[in-house]
Amino acid sequence: MLHIVACIKQVPDTKIAKINPKTGTLDRASAPAILNPYDAHAVEEAVRLKRRYGGTVSVLTMGPPPAVKAIRRCIEIGADEGYMITDRAFAGADTLATSYALSMALQKIAKIRPIDLIICGKMTIDGDTGQVGPGIARRLDIPPLTSVQKVVEINKEEGYAIVHRKREDGYEVVRATLPCLLAVEKEINEVPRSPLPNVIRAARYQPTIWSADDLEGIDRSQLGLKGSPTIVAKVWVPPKPQGGTLLEGTPQQQVDQLVSLVMEKAAELFRDKEVAG
Ligand SMILES: Cc1cc2nc3c(=O)[nH]c(=O)nc-3n(C[C@H](O)[C@H](O)[C@H](O)COP(=O)(O)OP(=O)(O)OC[C@H]3O[C@@H](n4cnc5c(N)ncnc54)[C@H](O)[C@@H]3O)c2cc1C
Repeated sequence: MLHIVACIKQVPDTKIAKINPKTGTLDRASAPAILNPYDAHAVEEAVRLKRRYGGTVSVLTMGPPPAVKAIRRCIEIGADEGYMITDRAFAGADTLATSYALSMALQKIAKIRPIDLIICGKMTIDGDTGQVGPGIARRLDIPPLTSVQKVVEINKEEGYAIVHRKREDGYEVVRATLPCLLAVEKEINEVPRSPLPNVIRAARYQPTIWSADDLEGIDRSQLGLKGSPTIVAKVWVPPKPQGGTLLEGTPQQQVDQLVSLVMEKAAELFRDKEVAG
């Protein structure tokens, strides 16, 4: 029986959220908060593995109290237990401080039920760094497997996991010892519509909530803004590309169009040179 913990984050829906033109930062109030889409795939994969091998799926988030909504969404997907760490001491955390706080919470969860596998999303849609998963693995001294597009096997008895890691030219097959941490790609699965009993359970679900003081042995200097060496010098929206030609049709038609555009441009340059000379 496996114990899988998915780390999940509530994020503003960046498809709707606006950038404050003065500060260049994301106006979090301008969009509804949702479960980070990559994390929905992480939870779905955990639930599928539970179906395959048996066990328990827990989810963990660090966030403000309203993030309980994201935990409820995970219960809808099929998670069994939810844990939230929330405290003013965590505010302003960068990825270093976030991975520290989460690793301390994971150690506390492991005392309740030993953890075989931790699953994260590839990245969040607001922070976008993809650093938290590997950061947690480093702190817990377990193998991080990033860019996971398929879980081939989890063998608890023999203590290993085999996954496919996405590469530009295909995928690589990697075997790691358990416990390990997976950061999953969106294409790992489709998140189906949640079954009604899960939705009903989720509506009333209350996660276990811990403050910083509940995490035994925590070093407060590594939490929140105090524990965050990252300095964000500037945030800006890249300008939209101007002009250009949109190539359409089949890949072959697009290649043909591109070749004739390059030929035209070359002929133009050649003519200009001749005129100048
Ligand atoms: C100086 C500074 C101050 C900041 N202050 C704040 C702040 O006050 N509030 C704020 O929301 N952000 C703040 N941030 C942003 C914060 O660093 C990131 O939101 C956070 O560390 C996660 O990084 P990320 O979003 O890039 O996650 P990624 O590394 O892209 O996430 C990868 C995966 O890690 C897991 N994960 C990430 N974050 C969490 C989480 N919180 N709980 C559980 N699992 C998680 C998920 O599985 C996710 O898919 C601040 C950043 C800096 C640099």
